[in-house]
Amino acid sequence: MECISKVNLQKCNCSYASCSRRGKCCECLHYHRRLGELPACVFHEDYERSYDRSVENFIRMVGSMGMRTS
Ligand code: SF4
Repeated sequence: MECISKVNLQKCNCSYASCSRRGKCCECLHYHRRLGELPACVFHEDYERSYDRSVENFIRMVGSMGMRTS
């Protein structure tokens, strides 16, 4: 299977620019799952830039503004 990380990067909203997993959604998802967290792309930018990838932060966001990512 061909890696499409360059295509993924065009859609990635993660503001942690130096992360080696940016654009590698498979690695990103597994990394945050292992920590009991969610990846940046499920968070609105107002929540994403806090770097708090916790489920609790996601629930707070949905309670406040619904399921928005942009
Ligand atoms: S969400 Fe986490 S693992 Fe994914 S690119 Fe951003 S900092 Fe890296």
